[in-house]
Amino acid sequence: MQVSSISFNPAFGTRNELKGVIYVKPLKNGKTQEGIINHALKELESAEYDKTDILYMKSMGINPPFQSGKEAVEYLKNKNIPIKYGKFSDSKVHACLAKDETGERTVMINAKYKDSKSMPEILATAEAIVHETGHAKDEDTTNSIQRELDNLSLNVLTHRSFEKQYPKVFEGCNSFFFKEGVSLYPKLFFEYGIDKTGLKERVADKYGHMQAGDYKHPASKLANEIKELGTV
Ligand SMILES: [Zn+2]
Repeated sequence: MQVSSISFNPAFGTRNELKGVIYVKPLKNGKTQEGIINHALKELESAEYDKTDILYMKSMGINPPFQSGKEAVEYLKNKNIPIKYGKFSDSKVHACLAKDETGERTVMINAKYKDSKSMPEILATAEAIVHETGHAKDEDTTNSIQRELDNLSLNVLTHRSFEKQYPKVFEGCNSFFFKEGVSLYPKLFFEYGIDKTGLKERVADKYGHMQAGDYKHPASKLANEIKELGTV
């Protein structure tokens, strides 16, 4: 998922400093897409974050930007931020927050998921949306490792809430959407030992080129350790 976004006419674009510019061309939502997005928002709205999970995140120096899925959905609604599918120049990007030339922001989901309407896929879409909504909340285009960690915690908190609500719903989901996103981070945050080696390596690999922290998301010890790994 991308962090910052800048605009490129006529398509939306996002910039990744190391990997170059990623272009996103928005598509018009059809009935199926509206259905998936509305369902995903409904599920996100019902996602309650476990208090102990939040404390655990904080103990690692990670600060979730929202305390529940409902808060994220309310933010999107209050700010009138639309959700669309788009053709990404990089097929590995699940979603991003794009800004057009007028400054309007859009949560863009990779068009390869535009017909993904099974229940686990809808939940995965909700998780992609909550991450980008976390980025939107900053109302700027700065990026940092800490900012990614904070927003990734939203994916994890939402995912764990869905697992509680719908036990086994993600069982057998092995496509890229799950292996490289939805199912990966909950494992890295919670299961790979206390030194968090797996999490550090993954975040360093994806975001290690960014600064460790920024003015809205000061770097934690974890973010600094990831930055060190990322610059080796
Ligand atoms: Zn991100």
